[in-house]
Amino acid sequence: MIDAVVVGAGPAGGMAARQLAAAGYETVILEKRKVVGEPVQCAEGVSEFGLLSNGLSPDQEWIAQRVAGAKCVAPNGKWFYITRLPGYAIDRAVFDRWMVDGAVDDGAELRTATRVTRLAAHDGGWRIEANGETIDSRVVIGADGPASLVARDAGLVRNLEKILAYEYRFQNEDVAARDPEYFLLFLGEQYKGGYAWIFPNERRTQTIAGTIPYRYDLTSLAAPGLAVVGDAAGITNPMNGAGIHPGIFSGRLAGEFAVASLEKKDPAAMLEYDRVVRSSPFLDPVLWWMIDRARRWTDRLMNTVVEELEGIDWRALTWKRMLGTGVRKPSLVLHAREFYRMIRTLELCDRYGW
Ligand SMILES: Cc1cc2nc3c(=O)[nH]c(=O)nc-3n(C[C@H](O)[C@H](O)[C@H](O)COP(=O)(O)OP(=O)(O)OC[C@H]3O[C@@H](n4cnc5c(N)ncnc54)[C@H](O)[C@@H]3O)c2cc1C
Repeated sequence: MIDAVVVGAGPAGGMAARQLAAAGYETVILEKRKVVGEPVQCAEGVSEFGLLSNGLSPDQEWIAQRVAGAKCVAPNGKWFYITRLPGYAIDRAVFDRWMVDGAVDDGAELRTATRVTRLAAHDGGWRIEANGETIDSRVVIGADGPASLVARDAGLVRNLEKILAYEYRFQNEDVAARDPEYFLLFLGEQYKGGYAWIFPNERRTQTIAGTIPYRYDLTSLAAPGLAVVGDAAGITNPMNGAGIHPGIFSGRLAGEFAVASLEKKDPAAMLEYDRVVRSSPFLDPVLWWMIDRARRWTDRLMNTVVEELEGIDWRALTWKRMLGTGVRKPSLVLHAREFYRMIRTLELCDRYGW
């Protein structure tokens, strides 16, 4: 029986494998793709805070462009700052490989073109079938993306709600960047309950489609000797679909719990991962509450709200300013609870949103 198997070599799996390999445990990473990170199914935006808070220093090898933050744009073109914390447009394929290489450098074994087809509890650990071979492992990390086989076979899935995402890439000379310094988030009725992003980035023309977890109902994100991380656990921001930062955060935590469980020879030590991740800002119920409400806002309401925030940082909102708005626009008072929660959501998204 080996110490640990990580299924999936995305950012979440790479991060979990790094913790296990650095602690000296025999770690095997199983990845169904022939080349880690390819094809890319991501717009490749991540915040600097997301990287640094998980111990990753931005590396020129995979940084494509630095941005100053993100703005939200209303249907009438007015906008406000979502965050002024900097971030990056990265090269996801190179980033994913860099993440996994970090684990390989510490002794992990990477097996590409290896699809896991079955997982079952076995002899105090887990039995995995991949490419017709059987592997027994004390610990398993399910980092196998939004359609996670690991979560399903471990019996953790109750219901999975996903959203479809489409990405259109244009040459800079064909479409002038609307704001080369910021990521732009567009809301409005024309997106039919969804949203649109514009990212400045140097890329070739391409169309990409993929799924993003929206609301995943898992009985637990862990079982004895097992944890699910990143998209496999549905840990993406429902406000905007960002999953790289939640992936590396949950991957790091799962890796740390796995190391503790191997050290103590206690598979049940991994169950605590579920509680810690669920109480993290990434899965705060206010995010779902807020996006469900904002989806129902009319363009008129959206425009009125954004006009009040026009060109400013939401932190500049004071009680005095809000009272002034209530006097000038009494219809907004009816939405006072939503606005209060919107500020809480923006506070969360500032650091943990992307
Ligand atoms: C169009 C689009 C744009 C996006 N843009 C952004 C963005 O700008 N910023 C952001 O933060 N997030 C974005 N996301 C979300 C982000 O891409 C994901 O949240 C992120 O990739 C999650 O990382 P992960 O490691 O959990 O899963 P993944 O990156 O999906 O990695 C899972 C890995 O597991 C492998 N795998 C799956 N099943 C098996 C199996 N049975 N056996 C072996 N290997 C398996 C897969 O091949 C894959 O390599 C976007 C998503 C889409 C679809």
